[in-house]
Amino acid sequence: MSEIPRIAVVVPVYEEAEGIAEFHGRLMRVLDRLEAEAAVLYVDDGSRDATPELLERFAAEDRRVGVLRLSRNFGKEYALSAGLDYVEGDAVVVIDADLQDPPELIPEMVARWRAGAEVVFGRRTARTGEGWFKRLSAHLFYRLLGRLSEVPIPPDVGDFRLLDRRAHRALVGLRERNRFMKGLFAWIGFRQEALPYVREPRHRGKSKWRLSRLWALAVDGITAFSSTPLRLAGPFGLVVALAAFAYGVWIIGKTLLYGDPVPGYPSLMVVILFLGGVQLLALGVIGEYLARLYIEAKQRPLYLVERWHPPRYDGIRSRAEEGDDADRGTAA
Ligand code: UDP
Ligand code: MG
Repeated sequence: MSEIPRIAVVVPVYEEAEGIAEFHGRLMRVLDRLEAEAAVLYVDDGSRDATPELLERFAAEDRRVGVLRLSRNFGKEYALSAGLDYVEGDAVVVIDADLQDPPELIPEMVARWRAGAEVVFGRRTARTGEGWFKRLSAHLFYRLLGRLSEVPIPPDVGDFRLLDRRAHRALVGLRERNRFMKGLFAWIGFRQEALPYVREPRHRGKSKWRLSRLWALAVDGITAFSSTPLRLAGPFGLVVALAAFAYGVWIIGKTLLYGDPVPGYPSLMVVILFLGGVQLLALGVIGEYLARLYIEAKQRPLYLVERWHPPRYDGIRSRAEEGDDADRGTAA
């Protein structure tokens, strides 16, 4: 690669009015020094605070900045997917707007990419500013996911990464509605390299993740990349059935030998309640998969765009100008 590469940075943004100016300043300083034609695409995920105006201002002040506004809050994974659909470049960098991922790492990512890596992902060496509960639950979740998933999903890896053109195209081609990005990133493969960094506490504002959302993310991740829970009921049922058969033989033998004084209410109750619980659990698991199948079957678009303000920079062409890309598979 002798000529100057074109690099696009995608930033999903949701109600970050407090801190976005600082992020923007730091990012642009990094891009100024980068030996590349760089452009930034902010994806406004339906913010209702001052974020949209700020983003429009950045775009008005700097030709390298573009803004894509979604019609409502779709969630980070969808905002990210929208951004990836709308950019074009030799490499694409994905970064959070809350300064937890330091923009200063981008030049190092670019250097590794130029040295041959096709995907460079940030790996958190420390999670500062996060409570013990979030750290513990994240740790357990990644352990479980690692055991269940068909593709190895590296732990302590967020969305902060650089994708080369091929990896970017591959990712854009994955149109599933259950968008567990860490899994999708791992699924595409290619030559991946880890770049360790210290994840800092959020600069301003609050994380929009609540416990219920973390739970939903965990269930999404497991159901999208493993069908083990769905199959768990089978072997478990077999074990229970074998045990029940042995128990039955024992009861019949006992009745034949000693007669039948009809005790056994407690054991009966225990077995009924236990199996009832297990059956409900298995039904719940089937329900999780069925619900996802249902959502997938509806074939709704992943997101809807309200406003598209492309960066007026040579590095990035707008998708609207290109027309719908046929090579991107079924675009939303
Ligand atoms: N974000 C988004 N849509 C949402 C929630 C968050 O685009 O519905 C953005 C947010 O503005 C930030 C990034 O996604 O740039 C990460 O969000 P957050 O810091 O809340 O997540 P965490 O760092 O806790 O995983
Ligand atoms: Mg954050």
